Amino acid sequence: MLEIALRNLAIVLLVAGGLHLLLFTFARQGDETRFDARPLARKSKVFHFGNQLRDNIFWTLCGSVPIGSLWECLLLWAYANGHATLISFAQEPIWFIGLMLLIPIWSGFHFYWYHRLGHVEPFYRWFHSWHHKNINTGPWSGHAMHPVEHLVLYSDLAIYFLLASHPIHVIFNAMLHTVAGPTSHCGYHRVRLTRFFSLQLGGFMHQLHHRYFDCNYGSYETPWDKLFGSFHDGTAAGDAAIKARRRRLFEKKNQAASPLDQ
Ligand SMILES: [Zn+2]
Ligand SMILES: [Zn+2]
Repeated sequence: MLEIALRNLAIVLLVAGGLHLLLFTFARQGDETRFDARPLARKSKVFHFGNQLRDNIFWTLCGSVPIGSLWECLLLWAYANGHATLISFAQEPIWFIGLMLLIPIWSGFHFYWYHRLGHVEPFYRWFHSWHHKNINTGPWSGHAMHPVEHLVLYSDLAIYFLLASHPIHVIFNAMLHTVAGPTSHCGYHRVRLTRFFSLQLGGFMHQLHHRYFDCNYGSYETPWDKLFGSFHDGTAAGDAAIKARRRRLFEKKNQAASPLDQ
């Protein structure tokens, strides 16, 4: 368990810490491809320790790393004790690869629905509002959330209690959170690693979610926001669509609150 926790700690330090050093401490590319040029909050009572970066690092290292690692250990324990069905590539090559391809879809589906629920009261006030203190995000903001939300974020791993699988599936699924949290919140569309090589890391769609709150609950790869009318593409038309949706929901809520007015 300690080895798993240390491995996850090293990955988070490398990805979130490395990106923060590159983009914010040394500001290697300035504001080039940055979504929101405002600095991270240094003195703000909203954050624990009165500082966005310290708050974000604390909840990543003390919440996300141990809780994500515990989920992984739980599944390994389940394989070892016959509570989850263990397969090998040699036994089931087609299912082994097929499941690997399905994992991002499953993880995105799980994320959309739990995240949407997180925006419903009282869950928003109790838990998810912690993550939304970050209106402008940095790499460490990806895992800055209430520990209960860490527990739910990694709970998509519970599916391996039901599906025949291999630890590599569990680790790959967990890494979608561990690595994609810092990269998707890094605040930059493209991160320049060398003079000639850059990677598209930041999630514009999720950046808009942090800006407007009531749109883009899912990941870009999954169709749920488009299907349920909560997709904001960052254009003026997207803005108008989200405002119209907000108005509709507000009117519906008012009608429900005063049925005699109908
Ligand atoms: Zn976020
Ligand atoms: Zn949210």
